[in-house]
Amino acid sequence: MSFITPRKQSKVNEFSLLLKESTGMTNQEKIAAQNGRTRLCRHFLRGTCTEGDNCTYCHDISVMKPDDQKVFIGGIPRNCTSRQVIKAVNDAGFKVLNIPKCHPSGFTPKVCLESVAKAKALLKMARVEVEGVIADVRKFTDSRSTNRDNMCVTVSGLPQGATGKDLMEGLAAHGFIFDRTPLVNTADTFCQRLELATVEMADALVALETVRCSNMGCELTITQYGGRKARRSVRPPMAQTRSMQSTSWSARQGEGGKCRQSFLNRAMTAPMKPSSAPVFSEYMGM
Ligand SMILES: [Zn+2]
Repeated sequence: MSFITPRKQSKVNEFSLLLKESTGMTNQEKIAAQNGRTRLCRHFLRGTCTEGDNCTYCHDISVMKPDDQKVFIGGIPRNCTSRQVIKAVNDAGFKVLNIPKCHPSGFTPKVCLESVAKAKALLKMARVEVEGVIADVRKFTDSRSTNRDNMCVTVSGLPQGATGKDLMEGLAAHGFIFDRTPLVNTADTFCQRLELATVEMADALVALETVRCSNMGCELTITQYGGRKARRSVRPPMAQTRSMQSTSWSARQGEGGKCRQSFLNRAMTAPMKPSSAPVFSEYMGM
């Protein structure tokens, strides 16, 4: 027989608060719901993160996918959650790869589908029902891509004599896509301005910091391209802000990029499992 003592009562209250906070939301869903960009998990990009959905850094598969594989959905209910968007898109016959951020003013800017063809098919449907509301499917545009410097990184550690083509092939083997061959000056062991096909791929490369390229037998060091220093989010991971800044959606020419199967992409298609909610008996030491 046990009595509820004040100390126990306070523990009960503490527990219910913990449960309320968790509401079955995984860390990754919480990250997706927070304001602004979040730091990408380097280990996840390498396929070596052991934290799974509990990781406090962002695990976003879609950063390695071409922009043509993503769509924008507008006109969703204001309080819509990423799970509801995923369900709605699933019900329409499509699979969603990422955890889409839902803006409180009623849109989700990036829903990543399984392939470019699937994204095109959903764009052709143009409408999807989300929680009883008919929402609008539109082309995805990354607002930061209006400045091409945002798609660039600086690479060093190239072996003597390496060409732009070597560099491109070495990174393409890890799933990175390029619209144009980078310029590497003869006798240089660096590439000042390496332009990726998307802004998010540039982000991913910067997050990785180093990449081994077997074709050149070297380890490349990646730094942010000088022209875009103020671009990165300084927000700590897991900030509890729910509101999101409004974003302008400027048009951008998409590229018919193909994403090669690399260790990066393979690693990032693992299914997500929900984080465990606190267990009452365990919390109370029963
Ligand atoms: Zn991680």
